[in-house]
Amino acid sequence: MANTETQSILVVGGGISGLTTAIEAAEAGYDTYLIEKNPYLGGRVAQLHNYFPKLCPPFCGLEINFRRIRANPRIRFFTMAEVESIAGEEGNFDVTIRLNPRYVNEKCTCCGKCAEACTMEIENAFNYGMDKRKAAYLPHDMAVPARYVLDPALVKSADAQKVKEACPYDAIDLAMETKTMNLKVGSIVWATGWKPYDAHKLETYGFGEFPDVITNVMMERLAAWGGPTQGKIIRPSDGLPPKTVAFVQCAGSRDQNHLPYCSGICCLASMKEATYVREQIPDAKIYIFFIDIRATDRLEDFYVKVKKDENLHFFKGKVAKITQDTSGKALVLRVEDTIAESLQEITVDLVVLATGMQPNTSDSPLPIQVPYDDYGFIAAQSAKPGLYAAGTTRTPTGVAEAVQDGTAAALKAIQSIARR
Ligand SMILES: Cc1cc2nc3c(=O)[nH]c(=O)nc-3n(C[C@H](O)[C@H](O)[C@H](O)COP(=O)(O)OP(=O)(O)OC[C@H]3O[C@@H](n4cnc5c(N)ncnc54)[C@H](O)[C@@H]3O)c2cc1C
Ligand code: SF4
Ligand code: SF4
Repeated sequence: MANTETQSILVVGGGISGLTTAIEAAEAGYDTYLIEKNPYLGGRVAQLHNYFPKLCPPFCGLEINFRRIRANPRIRFFTMAEVESIAGEEGNFDVTIRLNPRYVNEKCTCCGKCAEACTMEIENAFNYGMDKRKAAYLPHDMAVPARYVLDPALVKSADAQKVKEACPYDAIDLAMETKTMNLKVGSIVWATGWKPYDAHKLETYGFGEFPDVITNVMMERLAAWGGPTQGKIIRPSDGLPPKTVAFVQCAGSRDQNHLPYCSGICCLASMKEATYVREQIPDAKIYIFFIDIRATDRLEDFYVKVKKDENLHFFKGKVAKITQDTSGKALVLRVEDTIAESLQEITVDLVVLATGMQPNTSDSPLPIQVPYDDYGFIAAQSAKPGLYAAGTTRTPTGVAEAVQDGTAAALKAIQSIARR
């Protein structure tokens, strides 16, 4: 331990990869700091309705992790926090963290009185903008930490004082400011994850123009009981259940103009979402338009099971264009049928674009030099001595692989400290 000033580990990103790293490292006896940008832990998994292949709700698994965090005094986590700078080297990093104001302190009981008093509404980012929420809000029903947040726009508005006065527990602090915190750590794990590829960039698919063209992540929220429709799968345009639903695979993926790589999970995500539709609308006709189906190893079984649905058509063909029909009520997909070698037009009520996973590091790089691949993923697990990448910041994966990768990164971070 001669060259190591500290044995602490910093984990950046509180999604399933980062949570796993932090918990595994702490349970191995290392003090761990977990830094999360959002006001809650759990990352994108918290926004899923169910997991493939078992189709269970993600909160079962997340809750087990939250319990392990609560039980372990070695983990300290900070939400609304981001890394500003990293200096130093393996065994001896100096890190500056920015803590953004929540305007609500630990006295909050989640009574909701501030939201009742608040008239300002903002876009609900948790539901991918499909509805609005009050500007004094709990990020979602299962949020950890269970504490309200005030939007900065509300704090600056004339409503702020009224909202503060509505709190019976003196939990609102309008004077809260951005703070910085300095940490000394021996090693760092970067696990800042992914975001959905921006479907607005897919010019021929009408996303943003036709309300009934949505994306796969939006479908997760439509099916979720905490979502914009309380779990009812309905068309955004008229609130009716769709009789025909099309899933468009590789929407922007494996395409040199967008994401040139395969995200590996979106075929399975569409199959899973087809089961959501089937559960609610037994006679719905479902199409999955695909180039190739990617369902490897044991997930092949899930594909085989979903394929048994006689009203679900796997259609090998690339969707070239999506338009509205003359009534303005249905969507027309122009598809190159690669088996029949013909062009077809298929009319449906709802389209779900299976967009891929883009690494957050592609437009928010680390504040220290590390190698990236051509797509913006961190190029190697050992990004530099003492700094490791975990989960979808490194490669697109499903949850099981993200957990394995988070565990592997914990081991690397521990080795980095222990060998010095
Ligand atoms: C439509 C869809 C459905 C899916 N369904 C399934 C499924 O059923 N089963 C399955 O196994 N997988 C599924 N996945 C994949 C799953 O979402 C990922 O495997 C999982 O989210 C990876 O977790 P992660 O921790 O690597 O990344 P993330 O979930 O993205 O977590 C990263 C965390 O880092 C935080 N962060 C970002 N930037 C910063 C920063 N600068 N500072 C601090 N924190 C930061 C983020 O806020 C986030 O909390 C699905 C994916 C899609 C697109
Ligand atoms: S901030 Fe106050 S009013 Fe709002 S939920 Fe928390 S305790 Fe209740
Ligand atoms: S997983 Fe399927 S939909 Fe996603 S990019 Fe790969 S082939 Fe396309």
